[in-house]
Formats: sequence, C-alpha cells, structure tokens
Amino acid sequence: MAAIRFDHVSKAYADGRRAVDDLNLDIADGEFLVLVGPSGCGKSTALRMIAGLEDITDGRLSIGGVIANALSPRQRNVAMIFQSYALYPHLSVAENLGFALKVRKAPQAERRVAEAAAMLELTALLARRPGQLSGGQRQRVAMGRALVRDPNAFLMDEPLSNLDARLRGQMRVEITRLQRAAGVTTVYVTHDQVEAMTMGDRVAVMRGGVLQQLGNPRTLYDHPVNLFVAAFMGSPPISLLPGFVRAGADGPTLELPGATLALPPRPRLLSYLDKDIIVGVRAEMVSLTDTGKGDLDGTVAFEEDLGASVLTTVDLAPSTQARIVDDLAESDIPQVTRRLKANVQAGRGGRPGAPVGVLMDPQRLLFFDPVTKLAVG
Ligand code: ADP
Repeated sequence: MAAIRFDHVSKAYADGRRAVDDLNLDIADGEFLVLVGPSGCGKSTALRMIAGLEDITDGRLSIGGVIANALSPRQRNVAMIFQSYALYPHLSVAENLGFALKVRKAPQAERRVAEAAAMLELTALLARRPGQLSGGQRQRVAMGRALVRDPNAFLMDEPLSNLDARLRGQMRVEITRLQRAAGVTTVYVTHDQVEAMTMGDRVAVMRGGVLQQLGNPRTLYDHPVNLFVAAFMGSPPISLLPGFVRAGADGPTLELPGATLALPPRPRLLSYLDKDIIVGVRAEMVSLTDTGKGDLDGTVAFEEDLGASVLTTVDLAPSTQARIVDDLAESDIPQVTRRLKANVQAGRGGRPGAPVGVLMDPQRLLFFDPVTKLAVG
C-alpha cells in the first residue's frame, strides 16, 4: 500500500494536445479516490500514467514517496483490476487467485491465496470455476487476484460499465466494502456520477484534462466550485435559471422568471447588484403547490413517474428582468432556461399544461457568475 502523488503532471500525445494538464493530486495511503468526468476528459490517461502504461510528459508522479516516472509497470507494483469476466474460465477460484504468484514462483503462494480468500469470503468457493459463481463472487475473485500480489495500489478503469443496472448497483456496494476491508489505496475511473457519489472517499472531477474540484462527494454536490461540477454531479441534472440581483430601495432582491424573492444573505451576492446571475436549483430543493400559492408560478411541461417520486418539469412564467444568458453554449453544461425540474411526491404534480406554484428555499439555491461560470457565495 502506498500514497500516490501527482505533482504538476501533464501528458501530451503526439498531436501536442494535453490529455492531462498540470494535474496536482495527493492520494492518501489506503484512500479510495474516484476520478470522474465525461468521455475524453483525461481520466484513463491519468490512471495509465500511474500504472506505467503512458509516459509522463511533464511533472512528477510518486508512488509511496518514490518518483515513479521512469519505473517500469512491474517495478511500480500496482494492480490494474479488470472487469470480472477477465478471469480464466477453465481454472478454479484457487488457481485464478494464485495464478500470478505461480507464474512468478512467489514464496508462500498458498498461504497468501488462503488469506485473500478469507478476507473476500471466498474460502468455501475455492474449488469452483468462474462459470459457477455469481457476478458478485466473480468480482471478488478479480479483486482477490490483485490482492494476493500485495500491491501498492488498485487501479480500476470503468470496471462496471458492461454490467446491467441491477448488478452494477450490487457491485458498487461490494467493491466499496472490499476496498475498505483490504485498505489498499485505490484509484477508480468512471464517467458515472452515481459511482462517484456513492463509492469514493474523495472524488476528483476532470474536464478537458484539467482537474476541476477535489473533495468528498457531499462537498462536490452541495458546494460545487463551478457550473460544470454543479451540472456533472447529481441526477437529474441541476436546473439553471436566469437571475438578476436588483439593488432595490427596500433592500436587494433576486428576480427569477415570474417572481421576485428576497436575496439570500450571502455577502458575495452583493457584488452582483444590478447584474445577471445564474441560479442553480436541484430537483429536491423544490416543491409544488397550487397556482398562486408558491414563490414562483409556472405550468407543468411533463412528468416522469419514477415510482417513489415523480420528476416534474415546470416551465416558469416569463420574466421581466432576468434574461436568458445565452452565451453558455457549452455542450457539457445545461442551458440556462426557464425550465425547472422538481422531484415531488406522487400526486403532487399535475398534467401537462396545468398551472402550478413552485416553492423553494432561497437559502439552498446555488449561484454562478455568468461570465466566469464560477460559484458565487
Ligand atoms: P477518458 O478516459 O476521460 O475518456 P482519455 O484519458 O482516454 O479520456 O483521453 C483523453 C484525451 O486524450 C482524449 O481527447 C483522447 O482523444 C486523447 N487520447 C487518448 N489516447 C490518445 C493517443 N494514444 N493519441 C492521441 N490522443 C489520445
């Protein structure tokens, strides 16, 4: 086990573009770090640099306090964990677990296999073949195969992407549990924000090769540093509304489509007097009521019945002041519109076209600068 450190690490491919740009990241010994971001953001490249499968263009990578830039993959002693179907189908669980040790003629192979099997609760299954195991048990064998090598770190690249939704849910829990039990430093790459929210001690969000934010999942969700992180974390995605901070004779107000609210008392909002601001609203911050009884008025656009709740999309009334900020034409950030998603109890929504009132707690709203896209307050 070992800590891993990226110190101003960059990777440029032959075309000169930087797949990873000046990455600084300290991963603690035993930590479970999730690297997340959309396709092409550089997360696999970062992982492959730890494994020694990609050269490092600039900066220093250290593993266990040792500069690893020039070390071979083998010298780094890190274990890439592949999807569970990469097991040898014709070998027993015990043989699968011991395979790497046998190849290397490692000492005490049997004892190490027995210890890994005990930790992963595979002792009773050692004689079975992979085809006789459940998906969850196969994943445990895949992790066990890495664990017997006593690696400095586990590296996982989208290990659940080929599984169906139910098994993926089980595996999220299983991998998290096993990582905690084994205590092995783990770097886990995914594009799935649900995996990022549920699995990691900390999450590093990347975009275009650049680290956007590093923190525990709750911090990223509640206090995103910019619009990209706000939009990436959370399902359904955050709704972005056009806002306007009005100075006002009786104190500052927040004008939203179809309504004027008191401005939440956050000092940094006062530097936006008489300026546009983007307001982020998550679906669970909103509830619906009869028309005229809410903070804002709107009409139901459509409903999606999720069973436990109904995701209701509401079009807010047009605004006099707040303007749609339309220079945000970035494909990975939702548009700023008058459209709001509300997660409501079954029966609390309405048919498409029905007028509704929208209630929301201004204290919980998120604010973003329309130009820099950075969080405000
Ligand atoms: P992710 O894992 O986040 O999907 P990658 O790390 O695989 O992203 O790739 C990051 C960027 O580097 C992408 O723009 C990709 O097209 C580019 N890239 C990856 N591998 C190569 C390569 N061998 N040569 C040139 N560009 C590459």
